Formats: sequence, structure tokens, C-alpha cells
Amino acid sequence: MSTAIDAFDSLLAGRQRILLLSHVNPDGDAIGSQLGLKWLLEAQGRQVIAANQDGVPVLLRADQVAPGWQEMVHNPMKPKRRGNGYDLVIALDCSDLPRLGKAYSPALAATPLVNIDHHITNLHFGAVNIVDPAASSTAELVWRLADALGWPIGPQAAQCLLTGIVTDTRSFRVGHVTPGLLGVAQQLMEAGASLAAVNELVLERRDVDTICLWGHALAELRLEERIIWTAIPQTMRARCNSVEQSDSGLANFMVGAVEADVALILTERADGLVDVGMRAAPGFNVAQVALALGGGGHPRAAGCTLALPLEAASQQVLAALKAALAQQRHAEQRP
Ligand code: AMP
Ligand code: MN
Ligand code: MN
Repeated sequence: MSTAIDAFDSLLAGRQRILLLSHVNPDGDAIGSQLGLKWLLEAQGRQVIAANQDGVPVLLRADQVAPGWQEMVHNPMKPKRRGNGYDLVIALDCSDLPRLGKAYSPALAATPLVNIDHHITNLHFGAVNIVDPAASSTAELVWRLADALGWPIGPQAAQCLLTGIVTDTRSFRVGHVTPGLLGVAQQLMEAGASLAAVNELVLERRDVDTICLWGHALAELRLEERIIWTAIPQTMRARCNSVEQSDSGLANFMVGAVEADVALILTERADGLVDVGMRAAPGFNVAQVALALGGGGHPRAAGCTLALPLEAASQQVLAALKAALAQQRHAEQRP
């Protein structure tokens, strides 16, 4: 880790124009780590562009939780003059390069890339890889970077990083919450960040269309071999006027079922692909199933995208999960 940070420090020296990217359909950690690092690098005199193919999710469009969100661009190669002007690309909260989506242009292939991430399935695709699956969030890794390099953390950077930590740990309830992490959160709050803002404006909020969709999806709930699952076809989304956006709340809710070890949601997208979200109860692991299906994630929260009709995708994922869970239960029973 400290070697990777030293390598990052050397790579950064003399590089002026920096492009920060995060994963498609971004969450609070993607946006928070990206904007947090933007503020930090700007304070170090760098010119920074932050881009995401899908922009900033509605709940994060608030200065109280993601200051600087208005500056996020969709396409970092526009206007054209910026095309070859980046000295360095940094990917945040992404386990593989395709997760950056269209924001990563092939024209960037010759530009050095730094990979900062905490997914256990990370493919180490950067020239420098600051990757730690024990970290709560990518935002925590950005904090570690700033701390190791002695960069001051202003109130805006502090807020963005706290937003990343709080959203990825669901307010310190899951994930890698250590005494050290609580110490980091304390420092960020002392630097001016608000914990209540993230809880109230992001974690506990969703629009009525999303709640409507939860209702329909929950009405179709099934339980098979301790897998609680549901599928969301486009027709269901249309009934609720629900727009496509990231919502991991329903999967988190479902995995609380005492009868289940894993929760699974399959969502049919407008382009016909199927997004798969999985959550595991304590003691179970869905990361390897996601990786085997071309996705990735964490032991207890992972996902993938399948190019199959909804029904076929459901059967494929259920079969993979049943096999993995049987193996995990068997391994647990061995002395
Ligand atoms: P979600 O269920 O969308 O909240 O995602 C849970 C976890 O799985 C997150 O850490 C995501 O980064 C990861 N994940 C979800 N979908 C994919 C995918 N298509 N490819 C790689 N990782 C994914
Ligand atoms: Mn993320
Ligand atoms: Mn994350």
C-alpha cells in the first residue's frame, strides 16, 4: 500500500492535467471519492476534470453532500482540444476498466492510469494500483493517500470523502468499519463535513417512483433455497414511471430476511441487458459468483450485467448462486 502510494507520488510529479473517472451508474463512493480527490488535487495546483458516463445521481446533486457536483462532465473528450491533453488518468471505485463505460475513451490508452479501488475482484489494471479490499470505501483510500502525502483536507474534500465512506458502509453499519475508520470520520467532521447531511439527504431518501417500484418488485418476491429474489422487467418500471438509476436500497432491505442467506435482484434495462445485484448475509460470499459472470464486487455486495433475456438471466444466476451457497455451507460444516 505505501509502495503504491510512493509510486503514485512519483507518477504525479510534473503532471498537470488530470482526469478522474468512476464507474457507470455511480454511487456515493464513486462520486464522493472522485470529487474528494478533485478538491485535493486542485489544492495541490493541478487542473482536474472529473467525468462519469452517467453524471451525478439525483440524491447526490446537493452541495451539502457532494460539493462540486455541478462540475462533473459526461464526456471528458469534449471539447476536442482536451482530447490528448491529459497527463494522468485516475480510475476510482472500479474493479475493471470496462466499468468506466464510455467515459474512458480509447484515445486515453497511452496516458498513464492509476487505479484506486477497494473491490476484492479488482483486476489491477493500472500502471499504479492503490487497491485494498480491507478498505471500507474508495473514499477511505483517497483519505489515506492525502494523509500519507501530507495534503491538507479542506471542508469540501472532507465532505465528499465522508459521503463516500458513509454511503458504502450504510452509515457505519456494514463493511469494514474499524476503530481507525471512525477516527477518519472524526477527522473529516472536524474538517467541516456533516454526517447528518449524508444520512438525511442520501441514505434515507428515495423518490415515490422508486418506492412504487419496490412495491411491485416485492409483490413478486420468491424464496428458493434461502435465496430471496425478484425480477424487475421494463413493464414494471413503466407502471411506476421509474427512471433508470442506481438503487441498492431494495437489495439491502431484502437481505435482512431471516429466511435468506442471499438476496438477488435482476433488473431489465432499456437496452435489453440485465443488471444483477446480489447481497449476502454474514458468513456468505457473492463476489466470486459475480466475477465468474463477468462482474465484480465485495464478498457481501456484488453484481454483474448479463446479455440475456430476463428469464434466462434469472435461471443462470440462480443456478450459480445455489451451487456457490451449497459449497459455502459445506465448507463451513467441515471441522
Ligand atoms: P449494486 O448491487 O449495484 O449496489 O452493486 C454492488 C456491488 O457490486 C458494488 O460494489 C458494485 O461496484 C459491484 N457491481 C455491480 N454491478 C457490477 C458490474 N456489472 N460489474 C462489476 N461490478 C459490479
Ligand atoms: Mn461504487
Ligand atoms: Mn466503493
